[in-house]
Amino acid sequence: MSGELLAPGFKAEPYWWDDAPRPAKSDATLPGKVDVLVVGAGYTGLMAARETAKGGRATLVIDAESAGWGCSSRNGGQVSTSIKPSFTALSGKHNEQLAFGIRREGLQALDYIEDLIQTETIDCDWARVGRYHAAHNSKQYEVLADYARNQPKGLEVPMEMVPRAEQHREIPSDLYYGGAVYPRHAKLHPGKYHLGLLRIAKAAGVQVVDHCPALAIARDGQGFRVKTARGEIQARNVVIATNGYSGPLSPWHRRRVIPIGSYIIATEPRPAEEMRQLIRNDRMVSDTRRVVFYYRLSPDHRSILFGGRVAYMESNPLVSAPRLHACMSAIFPSLKATRISHSWMGFVAYTFDTLPHIGVQDGLHYAMGYCGSGVSLATYFGMRVGQQVLGKAEGRSPLDNVAFQTRPLYSGNPWFLAPSVWWYQLLDKLPI
Ligand SMILES: Cc1cc2nc3c(=O)[nH]c(=O)nc-3n(C[C@H](O)[C@H](O)[C@H](O)COP(=O)(O)OP(=O)(O)OC[C@H]3O[C@@H](n4cnc5c(N)ncnc54)[C@H](O)[C@@H]3O)c2cc1C
Repeated sequence: MSGELLAPGFKAEPYWWDDAPRPAKSDATLPGKVDVLVVGAGYTGLMAARETAKGGRATLVIDAESAGWGCSSRNGGQVSTSIKPSFTALSGKHNEQLAFGIRREGLQALDYIEDLIQTETIDCDWARVGRYHAAHNSKQYEVLADYARNQPKGLEVPMEMVPRAEQHREIPSDLYYGGAVYPRHAKLHPGKYHLGLLRIAKAAGVQVVDHCPALAIARDGQGFRVKTARGEIQARNVVIATNGYSGPLSPWHRRRVIPIGSYIIATEPRPAEEMRQLIRNDRMVSDTRRVVFYYRLSPDHRSILFGGRVAYMESNPLVSAPRLHACMSAIFPSLKATRISHSWMGFVAYTFDTLPHIGVQDGLHYAMGYCGSGVSLATYFGMRVGQQVLGKAEGRSPLDNVAFQTRPLYSGNPWFLAPSVWWYQLLDKLPI
């Protein structure tokens, strides 16, 4: 990659880690026996563990890397209602009642995360700044406008259409055909948020051991024996919270999630007044493309964080950085000479029906598959799966009734990803 694009001190790691450094490696000894073992210390795992610890169960969370090393300290910090399929699409596949229930989960997840942050005073730059969802062609603008006029009863969200002629009040670009503002969508600092969850999980009594990959799980009477790199643990219950990093530990889960790399850059700092002219109102921004771009201002308003997928095959942050920079500069030509301070990536977990999934399989509890929009969902379903372990009625979710599908010949290696990205990018060029 051209060195001119890299700012002095460039880092191939998340921008967020500057202000929220990864927790130091713990030298804690592994307990031989716990009530609940949670595998994965991201938002899902910590929230599940906090719930079971609050319920009086001795709870341990382990992570193969540092706690939060996965998506939970790498994401864009854009927070929305996050359920991908529309009510109409879900009603076509399931019944209307279930479709309604699933869509409500997304709305509840957004309210839940705000309530949690406020109640637990988690310092993570949370604010309901709203999202500008930009239409990449006129057809998609019409689709958004039609949705705004005909929202399903009981699932309405505030939504304001911005015609193309007025788009400059959101972003000074003519690349888009207008869009919609969702004023209730929010922003946060994902790294600080993760550290906040770590704090409240520990305060509830959760023990966290990092750099401790789980290697194998075996049934042991009513519970499980889990082999890890740091020794063996007996647990009455196990929660799988590995999302896009689900490896060979549980082949059943691995066959059901599609790990897809998402890539982001941060620009070197510029004067805040200048950057605020590019993304007005401090909005989170995304677009209607199938292969979406998402971007926002940094918390100090001096950088832009610009993310998306810019390669058919998985790549690395040095290869993706100039490509993302080119896409960003097409939207904001004034940033052409602004260099990149950070470039990083992470693996999100897609599912075959683009829904998150929660449940129990062969005695293993799990919540995963947030399809790239997991800040609120992982928080919420993590809490729910913890309640399910405790056998609490309020842990039930309409998603309990949705089968977690796989496909023949799929074992966790998404060989179809490159042709799919090619196909979706082609569709994004058409006026449909
Ligand atoms: C670049 C990027 C941008 C994103 N932007 C957004 C956004 O703006 N808004 C949004 O809502 N969502 C976004 N997401 C998605 C969101 O971050 C995730 O959905 C969410 O963080 C998932 O949390 P999690 O706890 O389920 O998984 P993760 O945070 O990925 O945690 C899984 C953990 O499991 C561990 N693990 C795996 N296998 C083992 C094992 N065998 N033993 C022990 N530990 C193991 C991993 O080390 C990892 O730490 C983005 C994701 C990425 C990568």
